[in-house]
Amino acid sequence: MRTYEDWDGLLARAARHGGRYLAGLPSRRVVPAAGWDAGALGGALPEQPQDPHEVVELLATAADAGLTATGSGRFFGFVIGAALPAAVAADVLGVAWDQNAGLRAASPAHAAVEDAVERWVLDLLGLPPTATVGLVPGGQSANFTCLAAARDAVLRRAGHDVARDGLTGAPRVHVLVGAERHETVDRALRFLGLGAPVPVAVDDQGRVRPDALTDALAAVPDGAPLVVALQAGHIHSGGYDPFAELVPLVHARGGWVHVDGAIGLWSAASPRLRHLVAGVEEADSWSTDAHKTLNVPYDCGLAVVADPGALRAAMGMQAAYMVPTPGDALEPFERTPEWSRRGRAFGTWAALRSLGRGGVADLVDRLHANALRTAAGLGSVPGVEVLNDVVSTQVTVAVGDDATTRAVVDHVLADGRVWLSGSRWRDRAVLRVSLAGWATDEDDVDLAVQVVREAVEAVGAARAGG
Ligand SMILES: *Cc1c(COP(=O)(O)O)cnc(C)c1O
Repeated sequence: MRTYEDWDGLLARAARHGGRYLAGLPSRRVVPAAGWDAGALGGALPEQPQDPHEVVELLATAADAGLTATGSGRFFGFVIGAALPAAVAADVLGVAWDQNAGLRAASPAHAAVEDAVERWVLDLLGLPPTATVGLVPGGQSANFTCLAAARDAVLRRAGHDVARDGLTGAPRVHVLVGAERHETVDRALRFLGLGAPVPVAVDDQGRVRPDALTDALAAVPDGAPLVVALQAGHIHSGGYDPFAELVPLVHARGGWVHVDGAIGLWSAASPRLRHLVAGVEEADSWSTDAHKTLNVPYDCGLAVVADPGALRAAMGMQAAYMVPTPGDALEPFERTPEWSRRGRAFGTWAALRSLGRGGVADLVDRLHANALRTAAGLGSVPGVEVLNDVVSTQVTVAVGDDATTRAVVDHVLADGRVWLSGSRWRDRAVLRVSLAGWATDEDDVDLAVQVVREAVEAVGAARAGG
């Protein structure tokens, strides 16, 4: 494997399989068929080296039946975005380049691309141009990164140095979160040694209630270190905390506001939907995903912190072999918990560059329009109740009692033409439809509605018959 012909042959083989898969998405079963054969991928480790062509061929053929077509226009499960063409191709190139993106000196080209992504993202999301952006593996890790900066900053203000003393002897950090925050916020707080947060009551769309936050803040001792995590884009309702009302309440108490905007922060890029995030730019940190709404291939999340010094204080480190860059620019590793990492900015750069400002706004608007069409369609199916105000990309419905809803979910998944997720919200079994992929069009939405309609009828008939 040294010549251009060698590499071209091998990469072309992988690209051919990838291209065939992607082109086949419109007609492919979304859900892997039950009982697909994982055997060929297992077995004993070969004793001797194998031909790379055979390895790629085996992977491509043996894995195929077990792939979930998350990039299909008919995938509405969890919140999983598809992947934009330019981003897919740029990531393939990035893998061939195999850059270590942790240090500017180790890849000046990646650093330049990452700096461009930082500027473009802050601009599109309407966040302070002086903020900094860490490219992390996803929303979980973005929440962790931002909340680490938050923890250290609020303790520093209270005279406690976490870098030197750890949490031993530190004053308690009061952490308040919406009662329906994403579980990854709790997990990040656990990793950070902050324990379980105090939940603040929410309204019927899962949005933090200003009166409840006022009460919860009143219970925090004056001057105590304080972090409040809010949310842009609830996984069931798609709803947004009322930032313009909430953020000043926290700042008046000297607290740090973090916003988990994994799905929803991108509404800021749409002139039509920007009102949903009004006031969000006043927060202190924001996490979002590039691999959900922006449709970059996995894995890419964005950890945004208003004060770059606070992020550097939490993430920075010194090593004898580092090559310092002159000036104030943060090193990539000073913005993330990773040291060595892949060049994940390439895919995000390509997604943004290929869409442009107008394309990002169109993508966000189209996901919302699809959600509205889904809700209208499902709402017309007898027995189906739409439970949320469809303000963004999420539609959550129930079909009568919990047992019926669950039976409908099972029926839809067994059907295999579309993938919707079952879940629980507000103490009810629900069926959740996430509009997260660029490839979904109106026909896909109508098919999803039709599959649910058939499932509701089949479950009803089975009930009547049984
Ligand atoms: C998906 C999601 C996360 C976690 O993001 P990952 O990219 O899966 O790590 C966090 N918060 C919310 C609201 C999400 O939807």
